[in-house]
Amino acid sequence: MKSNGLEHHPLEPQDWPAFRATAHRMVDDMVDWMQTIREKPAWQAPPPAVQEAIQEPLPESQQPLDAVYEDFLKLIAPYNKGNIHPRFWGWVEGSSLPVGVLAEFLAATLNPNLGIGDHSPVYIERRVIDWCKSMMGFPDSASGLLVSGASTANLTGLAVARNNAQSNIRQKGLHSLEKPLTVYASVETHSCLQKSLEVLGLGTDAMRKIPVDNHYRIRIPELRAAIREDRKKGLLPFCLIGNIGTAGTGSIDPLDELLAVAREEKLWFHIDGAFGALAYLVPEFRKPLAAMTEADSLAFDLHKWMYMPYEAACVLIRDTEAHRRSFHIAPSYLLKHESGIAAGPEPFNHYGISLSKGFTSLKIWMGLKTYGLQAFADTIEQNIRQARYLAEKIEKEPKLELMAPVALNVVCYRYKPADYPEERLDALNKSIVMAVQDQGIAVPTSTILNGHYVIRAAITNHRSRFDDFDLLVKETIRIGTEMAATTA
Ligand SMILES: *Cc1c(COP(=O)(O)O)cnc(C)c1O
Repeated sequence: MKSNGLEHHPLEPQDWPAFRATAHRMVDDMVDWMQTIREKPAWQAPPPAVQEAIQEPLPESQQPLDAVYEDFLKLIAPYNKGNIHPRFWGWVEGSSLPVGVLAEFLAATLNPNLGIGDHSPVYIERRVIDWCKSMMGFPDSASGLLVSGASTANLTGLAVARNNAQSNIRQKGLHSLEKPLTVYASVETHSCLQKSLEVLGLGTDAMRKIPVDNHYRIRIPELRAAIREDRKKGLLPFCLIGNIGTAGTGSIDPLDELLAVAREEKLWFHIDGAFGALAYLVPEFRKPLAAMTEADSLAFDLHKWMYMPYEAACVLIRDTEAHRRSFHIAPSYLLKHESGIAAGPEPFNHYGISLSKGFTSLKIWMGLKTYGLQAFADTIEQNIRQARYLAEKIEKEPKLELMAPVALNVVCYRYKPADYPEERLDALNKSIVMAVQDQGIAVPTSTILNGHYVIRAAITNHRSRFDDFDLLVKETIRIGTEMAATTA
């Protein structure tokens, strides 16, 4: 392409009117897509022909943008994950606000790197972190950081906790420790916290996995005993992790008691509130979750129960100095100036491991401004009411069995017809889950509770209606009855 020594910019649109026309078509198509999502299957597996077409070799030559977009429409969009569908309740996934979609487009257009510099996006991000503190009842003096997910938010919180346990860990590493550090959390704690301990060099064995009661909440007597025993052995307990909304059943640890133990034992109190922390916005949960506002660190997602497009999560740290001491670094190429673009607020990399950062806060800022906090609180509350509604329906159905108490928004159940052999219920329920998904009806997923395979619906979906849960119950029974008849 390069000719006559002329400069050449092949990566910019060569024909802006054509680019604009395609862009408008994309916007129209995607608005239609969102508006009509309910009419589509909740999920469809990418067929073999599609999977094969995706195995395209590294493109060496040009294709028109319209052709590339056709591939998107043909190969990608119909076989999307489905978590924007009103009947997706798999794992714990967010449903994405349409306003957030527009914000992602605007953010990508401006494409600011929030790592350093004096520009409005950096002030918006700081303001959104302030709003997060305010939403979660943390003081203005706390610090915070937006990160990619609760996994990273938890890692960041635990890194500060670890570095706070002894002053020279950053310089000397864990070799400098006289006593091995130990952490306490319930057996229901998310696997990302274990991974955090591995990444932080403390190792899996540093976590004492404390048993839970029949509501899947950490047992305080066993917790106290474990701490006592470790101290006796010469270990150094430094951190206690509480859960608001466990991944398995959505259970909430007894936070008041955990806070008391943490204060008595002088442990850093970290909370994984990946989705559950957002229940704090609901009046009914204000008091039960009050101890969350006293935590030393709190990790939560905005891409789950705040319905933001992926990715967005937040970590809040009560002690700003402890936070800064953990990550502050000032290389010469990041020198702060008195004016010019290198003036501006303290860089975010003084509070986390990333330097370059996308404009994560724009979708949160636009979402909160457009709808107001109350609309989010109401939708979260509605999801909780939907979980209760589903649980009540299940309890009324003789062929269904509710498998765990519903503390929040997670419902675990199974199909259990009378006289069906217990040892085959796991296989039967697994087949039901696969059929409900394969038929595009809905997407619940599964977990194992007390050795039983259970169907699990985690409701963090702003599009779900009450009658969507009627359908889930009806179809579980229909498919279960068909399958039980052929396998009994
Ligand atoms: C989802 C989840 C995590 C991990 O969050 P990501 O955003 O997926 O990184 C941690 N803890 C709990 C309880 C979760 O539900």
